[in-house]
Amino acid sequence: MSFIQRGYLEEDELPPKPSEERLKKRNVAYIECPQEIPCSPCVESCKYDAIEMKNINDTPKVDYEKCTGCMRCIKVCPGLAIFMLRLRNGRGYVTIAYEFLPTPKKGDTVTLLNRRGEVVGEGVVTWVLPPERNEKTALVTVEVDPALIYEVRAIKVNV
Ligand code: SF4
Ligand code: SF4
Repeated sequence: MSFIQRGYLEEDELPPKPSEERLKKRNVAYIECPQEIPCSPCVESCKYDAIEMKNINDTPKVDYEKCTGCMRCIKVCPGLAIFMLRLRNGRGYVTIAYEFLPTPKKGDTVTLLNRRGEVVGEGVVTWVLPPERNEKTALVTVEVDPALIYEVRAIKVNV
């Protein structure tokens, strides 16, 4: 079964991962966009030439050493396919584009979900870019167990 039929990526379909050393330096863009569709805002947004795409139907590939973690790409991706990852002081951080309401607030504890929508734990919101400051798409950073940075791909606000 393909990821299109399944609706999510399995571990062996993920792009190459940045090194632990790189993850510890600063945020890095991790793009889970496997479908060959004519879309390129991520490439156009990157001022550091860190996203390679051979033609507009190619899938984007990030050069993790060129990526500065500026977040331009995650702000413009219409597919919500970009995640910012970071390891810091023994904790993991995942930044997710979030289009549901209510938008969580810094300090909130939220439910963490994997690609299948299964609950994998709880995390604390450490940063929010409100939707009104990014064309109605919020960005939310959650602090998670570092072992979960490749698992957590959505959050659910606890109400
Ligand atoms: S986070 Fe910034 S530097 Fe990194 S790939 Fe995205 S736009 Fe480029
Ligand atoms: S902007 Fe998003 S959906 Fe479009 S190619 Fe880039 S990562 Fe994929």
